[in-house]
Amino acid sequence: MKKKNRTILALAVLLVLLAGAWYLRSAGYVGQEPVQTSAAVDLENVPPFSGEPYVAVNNNVPSFLPGELTTSSYEVYSPLDDLGRCGVASACVGVDLMPTEERESIGQVKPSGWQTVKYDCVDGKYLYNRCHLIGFQLTGENANKQNLITGTRYMNVEGMLPFENMVTDYVKETENHVLYRVSPVYDGDDLVARGVQMEALSVEDEGEGVSFNVYVYNSQPGVEIDYATGESWLEGEARPEEDEPEVSYILNTSSKKFHLPTCSGASSMKKENREEYTGSREDLIAQGYEPCGTCKP
Ligand SMILES: [Zn+2]
Repeated sequence: MKKKNRTILALAVLLVLLAGAWYLRSAGYVGQEPVQTSAAVDLENVPPFSGEPYVAVNNNVPSFLPGELTTSSYEVYSPLDDLGRCGVASACVGVDLMPTEERESIGQVKPSGWQTVKYDCVDGKYLYNRCHLIGFQLTGENANKQNLITGTRYMNVEGMLPFENMVTDYVKETENHVLYRVSPVYDGDDLVARGVQMEALSVEDEGEGVSFNVYVYNSQPGVEIDYATGESWLEGEARPEEDEPEVSYILNTSSKKFHLPTCSGASSMKKENREEYTGSREDLIAQGYEPCGTCKP
């Protein structure tokens, strides 16, 4: 064979190998990590909360790849991100993973955005639960901080629990396996998830027993939530003030006195000593300023 032909042949073989590797990878047969880094659901495509605890995603069809189907039980949790937030948790749930011991205390875990508060309109009073991504009854995880998020009582009980019960019942009855994935969905740098995407597929019967793909709202009827911080307040009531309100003052940079803009001392002040300031009184005093004795700002 001529040298040129050998080169062409070698290139052709290489091309076939590359194409094959690409196909296997894209089809999910090799190199597929069990953990996804981002949730599949796009918040822009989720309708706003309207009083139903969840909505179907992708026509309720879970998006597991063929390579993820297995009859070996496992559970994988994402490391917390820079903001201390949980990521995707996935498992292949089998009877061998299910808890055999009583649930232990998880009260020492403080998930991102955790702010304890009680409301009379919430079942059990507490707005937030330490909400398991993969329910305790499925994998027996107790105080695993990679599996606990700040979730409303409503999301926990009305939204997630029925799906967890469905999977538990199925696995116990059949001793089959269920692929299971829960993805917390955050908006930007929010500390509290807007909701969770829950996906499940029974393996041995290829989804005949269990198959769903839903987005569960992290909402609580009657309560408004600031997802950026976890702060909350009753619907229809004013949001509580976070900091001292900002006020305008006139500073005398020479005498280190501060005045209200309406004070005579403010208008008679030498121009070179006069400075306008907007901010908190506390900060000014911390900077060494004293309130004027006339206008008493
Ligand atoms: Zn004054």
